[in-house]
Amino acid sequence: MTTEQPVSEFRARARAWLAENAPSFPRDDFYGDARTVQGLMQAAGFAGITWPVEYGGQGLTTTEQREWDEESQAYDVPVDVLAISLGMVTPILLDLGTEEQKQRYVTKLVRGEYIGCQLFSEPAAGSDVAGLRTRAVRDGDEWVINGQKVWTTHAHQAEVGILLARTNPDVPKHQGITMFVIDMHAPGVTVRPLKDMSGASKFNEIFFDDLRLPAGSVVGEVDQGWAAAVQMLRHERLALTARRTRTDNPASYSSLAQEVRRAGRADDPIVRRTLAQIYIGERVGELFSARIAEEIKAGGDPGPRGSVGKLAGGRHARMLADAVTTMFGSGGTVWSADDASGAALSQIIATAPVLRIAGGTDEIQRNIIGERLLGLPKEPK
Ligand SMILES: Cc1cc2nc3c(=O)[nH]c(=O)nc-3n(C[C@H](O)[C@H](O)[C@H](O)COP(=O)(O)OP(=O)(O)OC[C@H]3O[C@@H](n4cnc5c(N)ncnc54)[C@H](O)[C@@H]3O)c2cc1C
Repeated sequence: MTTEQPVSEFRARARAWLAENAPSFPRDDFYGDARTVQGLMQAAGFAGITWPVEYGGQGLTTTEQREWDEESQAYDVPVDVLAISLGMVTPILLDLGTEEQKQRYVTKLVRGEYIGCQLFSEPAAGSDVAGLRTRAVRDGDEWVINGQKVWTTHAHQAEVGILLARTNPDVPKHQGITMFVIDMHAPGVTVRPLKDMSGASKFNEIFFDDLRLPAGSVVGEVDQGWAAAVQMLRHERLALTARRTRTDNPASYSSLAQEVRRAGRADDPIVRRTLAQIYIGERVGELFSARIAEEIKAGGDPGPRGSVGKLAGGRHARMLADAVTTMFGSGGTVWSADDASGAALSQIIATAPVLRIAGGTDEIQRNIIGERLLGLPKEPK
């Protein structure tokens, strides 16, 4: 005898909405589709699930969030491009933004009307973000920004950016940084797209020439930007960990399993064993990030444990890339223009290094885990 699990009202609604709407989600324009689908989700009550209703959220709990994640797994929901907007920019504005900043930006971000980007890294300040040189100088009621950022994902499509700039050069480097929220289309901001090794242009270099910001653009407190940055990076690590199990993530079990089926190799015992290992890795990662998300929701601070999820995500991506090269040989590196499978496999390989660099490299995560979780001696400065 089988016993049916009762389905909550929210899950039933999500299931019905996805079945009716997901098959006809637009899939022609990477950024435009994400904006459209996010808007549809928000209007239907499935975006910003745990965020306050007054800023476009649904005011629900992590239970509904998990139910939505589980139900939407089975569909291609093309909103992955909003991971920075919704996984980092919106959370930090909700954490530290003023009422005016929340009113102005958060609802539009949740609806996909705005895309947000993270303006931290500079040519000489990546792992050592606190070494950043972009300057913010107070001039009456305004701040004047000059400097350069690099690797800024989605900046060429973004309306809003979270910027770190040096406000006090005369104190130890971690103490003189401030976080700002900026309008990416303001005069004084120049965005130049960069091409990555997959041929795509998703990140950019940004130049600030006398960008003038109102005093109310500070997020948190002046000169307290380092703590704000650490808080935002914590959100990033969680978002990256959560992202890796989505079906629309090219470097996931589902993508690889699809290619294995397409190639007729699903009965090969060695292939099956590798797939099982990858599935287990993803499931463990999923449970780990769910646990940390619950902890944050309950007011806890997972601190450096987010680095464990981030490091595991990078290792997992490498395992996937290795599996592709072992199973398909050159099939993932050379393919003809009409071979969708080759393109998908190449994406798995090309995505692996990204997860080991963006959001803090594997080496940096190991340093954090070693020093702050395991209590090992600090590396010499
Ligand atoms: C696809 C992608 C998207 C990105 N998107 C964004 C974005 O939207 N916004 C943003 O601000 N940044 C973004 N970044 C930048 C990313 O955060 C940096 O690339 C990363 O922090 C590393 O900095 P770096 O490239 O300057 O390398 P470096 O810091 O110069 O490091 C070079 C090498 O030295 C190692 N290393 C450095 N310091 C140490 C140390 N103390 N101990 C041990 N090893 C060390 C590193 O691990 C690395 O292997 C993105 C990067 C990528 C690849």
